[in-house]
Amino acid sequence: MDAIILSIGDELVLGQTIDTNSAWLSGQLAGVGVSVLAHITVPDDQTAVEQTLRESASRCDFLIVSGGIGPTEDDLTRQALAKVMGVELEENAQWLAELHKFFEARGRAMPAINRIQAMIPKGAEMVFNTAGTAAGIHAVIEGSRVGVQGSGEGSGFRVRGSEKVSYEASSFLNPDLQTLRPSLCHVFITPGVPKEMKAMFTRDILPLVKQAAGGAVILSRTLHTFGLGESAIAEMLGDLMRRDRNPSVGTTVSGGVVSLRLNSRFPSEQQAREELQKTEVACRAALGDLIYGQDEQSLPGVVAGLLLADSTATQFAPAVGTAESCTGGLLAKMLTDIPGSSRYFRQGYVTYSNEAKQDLLNVPAELIAQNGAVSREVAEAMAVGTQTQAGVAYALAITGIAGPDGGTPQKPVGTVWIGFAHPRGCAARVFLFPGDREMIRDRSAKMALTLLRFHLLGKPVPF
Ligand code: ATP
Ligand code: MG
Repeated sequence: MDAIILSIGDELVLGQTIDTNSAWLSGQLAGVGVSVLAHITVPDDQTAVEQTLRESASRCDFLIVSGGIGPTEDDLTRQALAKVMGVELEENAQWLAELHKFFEARGRAMPAINRIQAMIPKGAEMVFNTAGTAAGIHAVIEGSRVGVQGSGEGSGFRVRGSEKVSYEASSFLNPDLQTLRPSLCHVFITPGVPKEMKAMFTRDILPLVKQAAGGAVILSRTLHTFGLGESAIAEMLGDLMRRDRNPSVGTTVSGGVVSLRLNSRFPSEQQAREELQKTEVACRAALGDLIYGQDEQSLPGVVAGLLLADSTATQFAPAVGTAESCTGGLLAKMLTDIPGSSRYFRQGYVTYSNEAKQDLLNVPAELIAQNGAVSREVAEAMAVGTQTQAGVAYALAITGIAGPDGGTPQKPVGTVWIGFAHPRGCAARVFLFPGDREMIRDRSAKMALTLLRFHLLGKPVPF
């Protein structure tokens, strides 16, 4: 079953308030197997609200609306819903009594302005608000083309129980994606105040949605990779990424990390879990050790785990040292982000200048003069120098051009050499990272961690 989430408020469209309601609601709906087709945000404008209610109700089973049911003149959601339903607002005696009680309990008479908060469209039902003064509203409506085109008062939508009207898809979003759906739409209107919305949704709306959704569940897992781009990963996944697949596999990129999002949607939790597991196994088979972790796991955290389990690292503890030029200590920062890092991290050098490389790491001045500071030779010498000076088993060294200046045709901005010394030898690799200074530095540190990770796994780097 499908839902659309509609948030109403000038402050939301102006960007003054971040719409946290929709994100929260999406999570809740996913938990009961309801797919969210869209998040829509409109200002406190009755015409805009009416039009969106019409269009959205014809596209989904559940339309969850928040905002615009306060007592003030800019709160117009209930009026808009009544208009779309083609009915009048009527006073809900039960909620009016609650309102009087609410104000009495605070030793005040109810301001006349609050009376509107007990008004709901005829034929709709009141939804209890345990945390505020605005009653929520639940209405079941069905749509038709007439309504979608907004041809005026009362057109197109009928309250549950009234004569069935014909239905055609709205022209709202991509028409190709629309299914003709002559079914009913449950519209829920909740307050905008996140605390009130959440209380109302959890207490009265979610149970109803859950029942209507028939117990379906969506279970999700995220698998993280670093080192290859999104398209390379997609190619390796092949058919696993087909849009009509369930569980679905999609990719997102953040900070150079390409993550696979697996969503498993099935009628029962057991089936969703089993199918998710199978898809995860298939993804792991396709990508192998490119996947460094899942869900909340971070690259430094995973490397820390490997170091703590590594016999050489335990023998040398602390076993890791770093020498950084263009990253200015970022790699050391990432390695020490993890609580307990003193068990594996000994020390880091920030050798930004050539002199520092010579003085602290014994990199020969001639080596720098001959090859330049950004070179295989210097990266290796920095790594070996760290190993000897700090007395560590594993030494990572980074020297590169983070830009924006300093690039040449031979060594453009983004050229980064990473040296790695371990008890059995030393090697260096060059990378050309895209992006600005911050991105280049970030990718360099993550790549150094990745080289260490593959060494600790005892596997060749697969790219
Ligand atoms: P009421 O809650 O009184 O029925 P309303 O829902 O429109 O009316 P507002 O006074 O407009 O309430 O908003 C109440 C508070 O909730 C404001 O601080 C507003 O920014 C916040 N709010 C409204 N909608 C959202 C949303 N979608 N996400 C996060 N905060 C929101
Ligand atoms: Mg509002």
